[in-house]
Amino acid sequence: MSLLDEAANTELTPAEANLRHWLATMPPPLDGHAPDVPVPEFMREPGPLFDAIAQEYAFRAVAEEKAARALGYLVPLAPDTDTMEFYATQVLDEARHAMVFRNHLVALGVPAAELPAATESFAGNDIRAILDPLEEFSLRIMRDQADFLGGVVVMTVILEGALAPAAELSERKWRPLDPAAADIDQGAGIDEVRHLTVGAAVARQYLLDHPKRRDDVLALIERGMRLWAGLPVRAMVRRREELFQAGLAQHAGVVGDYEIWPGRRLVDTTPVERLTTAEGWSAELKSVRLKYIGLEGAL
Ligand code: FE
Ligand code: FE
Repeated sequence: MSLLDEAANTELTPAEANLRHWLATMPPPLDGHAPDVPVPEFMREPGPLFDAIAQEYAFRAVAEEKAARALGYLVPLAPDTDTMEFYATQVLDEARHAMVFRNHLVALGVPAAELPAATESFAGNDIRAILDPLEEFSLRIMRDQADFLGGVVVMTVILEGALAPAAELSERKWRPLDPAAADIDQGAGIDEVRHLTVGAAVARQYLLDHPKRRDDVLALIERGMRLWAGLPVRAMVRRREELFQAGLAQHAGVVGDYEIWPGRRLVDTTPVERLTTAEGWSAELKSVRLKYIGLEGAL
């Protein structure tokens, strides 16, 4: 889990991840993968594998779009220019993630004109059950209360902290079946790690500058974690992993001896194993990041 190791162990400040840095390292490939990476024909066929990726990508496209819209509220609240620039780039990153996830559905055969209806049929219930409450919670802090630190902490600890491990698992499991999807996941994952790392540095510095905020931020994290714990995230991921498993059985020949992590062949893994591994990464990342920010009291 090199990417997540990096997320846990590197320090990146807004001064290092400002607009100049972003422009120097952009642009990524337009579709999130090189143009010559094909989508295998079997991925486009109706069946559990298609359902697994369609449900996942429709959900993630909407998650990224909601993140982009909410993060827009942090741009005017940022305490200095580097931090303002960083959040402006993060808004574009998340908007781009939404675009590449959405467009991958088109590559999988969904007609572009039918994307809204298809998104609703693939992920409408998950979006209403999981993303809508998270969005409402985030907008109350970022838009209604204009609370910069609260917004950064909610994004970094609760939302990105869950997205980065999900992206890592996706990249690893789609790699042998849909290399274009795996490249999209990898690109998004690299960005999420940067968001997570800089967000933690921003929160850490803000808290050093405003130590009186500690208690109310701890209470906010607790509320956020309680909200998260009450959402059917595990049930959704479990359902998608079951679909993936059925598809995996049908296409085991394509996957062969590919190892999802060292010493473990993907074809030998189970839905619960993949799910709990990603949850473990998530918990680990959350604990490292909270300690770094100086909010270990939330653990
Ligand atoms: Fe993103
Ligand atoms: Fe992000």
